[in-house]
Amino acid sequence: MVRDNLLEILKELPPGVELVGAAKTVPLERLLEAVDAGLKIVGHNYVQEAERALARIGRRVAWHMIGHLQTNKAGKAVRLFDMVQTVDSLKLGTALDRACRTEGKTLAILVEINSGEETQKAGVMPDEAMDLIRGLSRLEHLRVMGLMTMGPLGERPEASRPYFRTAAALFRECRALGLPGVAMRYLSMGMSDSYRVAIEEGANMVRVGTRIFGARTAPGEGAGP
Ligand SMILES: *Cc1c(COP(=O)(O)O)cnc(C)c1O
Repeated sequence: MVRDNLLEILKELPPGVELVGAAKTVPLERLLEAVDAGLKIVGHNYVQEAERALARIGRRVAWHMIGHLQTNKAGKAVRLFDMVQTVDSLKLGTALDRACRTEGKTLAILVEINSGEETQKAGVMPDEAMDLIRGLSRLEHLRVMGLMTMGPLGERPEASRPYFRTAAALFRECRALGLPGVAMRYLSMGMSDSYRVAIEEGANMVRVGTRIFGARTAPGEGAGP
């Protein structure tokens, strides 16, 4: 089933749009099935869960952090992930940069935009994003590779469109600036119910969980933060 779901989505995605399998709480067997069927990027929300999956699956896929990252997990995150999509403060960026220096590594990051401007949500406010990107671009061991946003959860897909538009406008604006050390290559937005709308608005990376792996049992169950 996972295999069929994956192949269907891969067939549907326009050329140039990358698929991230959002694998939180997904049993390893199912994740393996997707990887064997051609999934190239696995996204995780929790460092520990990613660590377990990586130990089993290895580096034949790219590993992306797509959940909120605490500063004290920066070292672990740098060792595990090929990309952290959720950098939303200079404090977190600085912690990642420092960990990269220790590891002798350069880390690709996306800047998470709080496109709904909801105070309780992760992400940098759109009007503060450019300052943050400039700040992050000066950190030697990080490469800003684009933007990521969530949009509202549990709404009709159409409800996400204005949020995706906000992030896409920022993406184009930032790309036009051509800041040194910044490559605006990826715009990561859209999930199972909203990836079509996101692609219409310019996403070239979508993060899909349920539509590949099936329904999650309970949010966070068995995952551990
Ligand atoms: C869970 C999750 C997704 C995928 O959600 P689905 O609705 O299952 O496709 C995408 N992005 C992030 C950050 C997530 O946590």
